[in-house]
Amino acid sequence: MTHAPRFCLSCGTALQALTVDEDGGPKSRLRCPACGWTHWNNPTPVLAAVVECQDQEGKVLLARNAAWSGRMFALITGFMEAGETPEEGITREVAEETSLQVHELKLIGVYDFQRMNQIIIAYHALASGEVRLSPELAEHKMFALADLRCWRAGTGYALADWLRGRGHDPQFIELPART
Ligand SMILES: [Zn+2]
Repeated sequence: MTHAPRFCLSCGTALQALTVDEDGGPKSRLRCPACGWTHWNNPTPVLAAVVECQDQEGKVLLARNAAWSGRMFALITGFMEAGETPEEGITREVAEETSLQVHELKLIGVYDFQRMNQIIIAYHALASGEVRLSPELAEHKMFALADLRCWRAGTGYALADWLRGRGHDPQFIELPART
C-alpha cells in the first residue's frame, strides 16, 4: 500500500493532478499549483539479503515478520537510508534485524516489485554470529539449500536465482492470491 500525498511537501498547498509537458510528452501527475513541486512517485529502493550462516553449516536464515498474519518466512529486507551505499545498508539491516555480522556480499540482482512501488536490490550475504532477532521479526528458521522454497514475488525470484547459481533447481510455493 502506498499513500499519495495530498499537500505540497514544500509549501503546503493542496496538490492537483496537473498535466505538464515532460521529456516523454504530456504527463499528468500530482503537482503543486503554487510552487510547481511534483510528486514523482519514483519506486523506493529496498535492500534484501539471502543470509548464508557460515557457522550453521551454510544454512540460509529466513525470518517471519511480526506484522504478517501467515506463516511466511522471507529474506531479510530493509529500506536504504540516505548517506549509505547499498552494501552498507544491507550490512546494517542484517545486523539490526538478526545481530549477525556480514563478512561478504555479492549482488544477486535487481528485482521488480511494482505492487509496493519498490525496486529490490538483492544480495547474497555471508554472515556469522548468534541470531538475536529485532522486535520487527517474530521468528526465524535455518534452511538447508535443498529445503528452501521460493515464492513468486521480487525477493522470492532473488532466492531462486541464487539457488540456481548454487546448482539447485528452485522449488516454488504458490501463495494465496492477494485481494
Ligand atoms: Zn508548493
